Amino acid sequence: MPLLVTGTIGIDTVETPTASAEGVSGGSCAYFAAAAAFHHNPIRIVGAVGGDWPIEHKSILKSIKGLCLDGLEERSKSKTFSWGGKYFDNMNQRETLFTELGVLEEPPPTIPESYSDSRVIFLANSHPSIQLDLLNNFPSRQLAVADTMDLWINIANDELHELFKHIDGLVINDSEAEQLTGISNSIEAAKELIARGPSFVIVKLGEHGSILVHPDGEYQIPAVALSPEQVVDPTGAGDSFAGGFLGHLASCDEVTFDAMKKAMKWGTITASFTLQSFGLDGLVSANKEQMQERMTSFEQKF
Ligand code: AMP
Repeated sequence: MPLLVTGTIGIDTVETPTASAEGVSGGSCAYFAAAAAFHHNPIRIVGAVGGDWPIEHKSILKSIKGLCLDGLEERSKSKTFSWGGKYFDNMNQRETLFTELGVLEEPPPTIPESYSDSRVIFLANSHPSIQLDLLNNFPSRQLAVADTMDLWINIANDELHELFKHIDGLVINDSEAEQLTGISNSIEAAKELIARGPSFVIVKLGEHGSILVHPDGEYQIPAVALSPEQVVDPTGAGDSFAGGFLGHLASCDEVTFDAMKKAMKWGTITASFTLQSFGLDGLVSANKEQMQERMTSFEQKF
């Protein structure tokens, strides 16, 4: 099933307790696409960048096999989305230092005609109005899944709740699920979110794994156990999880609860590579054999 993603393609600045990196290639769409490309192709990108988008970042995306960049607009007079974040001691907590919306404040990118048969749509983190606008272009889609973030919960809550009525699935952090519902128990929060629109919800629990709440049941898995030295930068792990999850579903052409359980594992495995480097490096430097090896060892335990 053709898979399309829209979201941010960004320039990140990241501080961790032990290191920092500036001008890193990131953005929700970029992480998702790089992760999904391990499992399915083509992955169709819809996004925009400005004239300040580094040529090295373009080379990284171009080097990833299976990405279709026909829907990536380069706007020479605009500014690329950029974001800065700081992680605290246990790497589970993060503070956003700045968000410069740049191209997100402009009209959304044009969707290429050749994308019209896309069946699986992922609305990676972006303004909910942009997410909904894109979705409206695909009335015969089979599966639409979205992610969101504290910024949009704070500044575009009504638009976000409108979006909920049009999506099949929501992939969200535990803290965002609590922020949206006021419920700290992740399963109960997911059920409350299901009452607002989507038919299934995945709550990401950072190093504690993830939970799927679906009409056919609930399913919880842990994260890959990495040592503290292996966790270099958690940025993009959530988007990479979603990429592994939907990449697998698109490749097996099935959206049942059982297929989603396997897809959760692929999301978990794929995200674990993102954690091991700054930016997209962890994904770009991994190969399918390494991913399969990690999956085999994960499945022996769970
Ligand atoms: P994650 O760590 O999975 O939440 O994803 C972080 C990535 O999302 C970074 O590469 C950022 O550039 C991007 N990002 C951060 N804030 C936002 C936002 N409000 N909307 C869209 N993308 C964002």
